[in-house]
Amino acid sequence: MTDTPTLALAKDLISRQSVTPVDAGCQEVMIDRLKALGFEIEVMVFEDTTNFWARRGTQAPLFAFAGHTDVVPAGKVELWDTPPFEPTIIDGMLHGRGAADMKGSLASMIVAVEQFIAEHPDHKGSIGFLITSDEEGPFINGTVRVVETLMARGENIDMCIVGEPSSTDIVGDVVKNGRRGSITGDLTVKGIQGHVAYPHLASNPVHQSLMAIHELATTEWDKGNDYFPPTSFQIPNVHAGTGASNVIPGEFNVQFNLRFSTELTNEIIVDRVTATLDKHELDYDLKWTFNGDPFLTDTGALLDAVVDAVDAVNNTKPALLTTGGTSDGRFIARMGGQVVELGPVNATIHKVNECVKVADLEKLTDMYQKTLENLLA
Ligand SMILES: [Zn+2]
Repeated sequence: MTDTPTLALAKDLISRQSVTPVDAGCQEVMIDRLKALGFEIEVMVFEDTTNFWARRGTQAPLFAFAGHTDVVPAGKVELWDTPPFEPTIIDGMLHGRGAADMKGSLASMIVAVEQFIAEHPDHKGSIGFLITSDEEGPFINGTVRVVETLMARGENIDMCIVGEPSSTDIVGDVVKNGRRGSITGDLTVKGIQGHVAYPHLASNPVHQSLMAIHELATTEWDKGNDYFPPTSFQIPNVHAGTGASNVIPGEFNVQFNLRFSTELTNEIIVDRVTATLDKHELDYDLKWTFNGDPFLTDTGALLDAVVDAVDAVNNTKPALLTTGGTSDGRFIARMGGQVVELGPVNATIHKVNECVKVADLEKLTDMYQKTLENLLA
């Protein structure tokens, strides 16, 4: 039996060792297919990262698929049942690094667009592809730079499907229609180092901070809303002391992270944390890293089209969720358009023996194609 177009392309992409930020020719394969369909291609290289933007049509609305060709490292190859960069089918599952995150999605997108254009060569609006090789890495030179470039010339994506593996048990059971924001604080509370036997000559920053840290960790940041769970504050790292049992430390380092809902903003969080630390009269430095704003697409043509497309294939509607880590959707959402994530089952992503059901890739292709028909036919 010969492979379907989606399976053949997924295998081709998986066989390329595109560990972040290396692309290993994946984008060239996609570009060749899109050029043949009449897409205008713009390769955008920023530092070590290759990205491309492709567009077919000049009219609004601009609908785009977004995704990444890079994969996380395979780790210890001997732990895999099959070589991670040799696509292999076992019991109906396609195995290989990137099968689910997200080379299977990329193959489905390309084939969906090929089939859609074959039937609708003069479709409405425009179709775009925003593809990066830096999603799994530091996300500095990937999607965010392409988005900045497009925004600078007023070319805003109106509707976007990100192909991240959003599904839980069967493909399409979950569509992510937003993501929480993420912000990290690196707090250094300053004291005075000294001998534990002479505490009056020292000032212990751990003791001074505990009440403030406790308050930050136990406060109710918000109640969440219909789409988001309550904001959560977590401390992943703390450090103080020299290791010696007779030295009062001079500094206390506390790193905290908040995953926050659309009820909060970076500014509100910074203000509340600062007010708490100041109330406890601490001497501190605080460095912030803004990892991403929350976004939400709770209504609109895109969401309707995607929900209908999933329903047409699965005979049941997807759940709309905002759970999970951040994705490149947060950058694309800055353009002000509608953004959702729809992709394969995520049970094996970033693990050994990453795999995706072959039949799911065909369903995903159908869902993407049906979405295009709903929006642009
Ligand atoms: Zn991914």
